[in-house]
Amino acid sequence: MEKKCLFCGIASGEVPAQRVYEDDEVLVFKDVNPQAPVHLLAIPKEHVSSSADVKDPALWSKLMGCAVETAHRLGLDDEGYRLVINCGTRAGQTVFHLHVHLMAGRSFHWPPG
Ligand code: 5GP
Ligand code: ZN
Repeated sequence: MEKKCLFCGIASGEVPAQRVYEDDEVLVFKDVNPQAPVHLLAIPKEHVSSSADVKDPALWSKLMGCAVETAHRLGLDDEGYRLVINCGTRAGQTVFHLHVHLMAGRSFHWPPG
């Protein structure tokens, strides 16, 4: 059985979080340490450690579709937003349960740091 992690705890409700959207497979909640006026995390409810560990490609359409739909519902299409996935420590991943950052409400620089 897959080891449970912090975001598994949030998915199951054992760890509190400000939930924005959820269905059977995915959950969107507010980042506890926001780096932009809008900073949400979209996760699969099932544990997957990182983008490198996704086995079922259908997970991508579900997860990214959910992030994009959330942005749309929040009225962010026109002003724009950034979706980020950090894969591995060197890329800045600190929680090893796959998550998509949805960030908006300010200008973002490119290239990112
Ligand atoms: P990473 O660095 O792995 O790409 O992103 C992890 C994100 O999870 C960070 O932005 C961090 O602020 C957020 N985070 C870490 N612990 C918690 C928590 O307990 N609750 C919530 N809502 N977000 C968390
Ligand atoms: Zn997990």
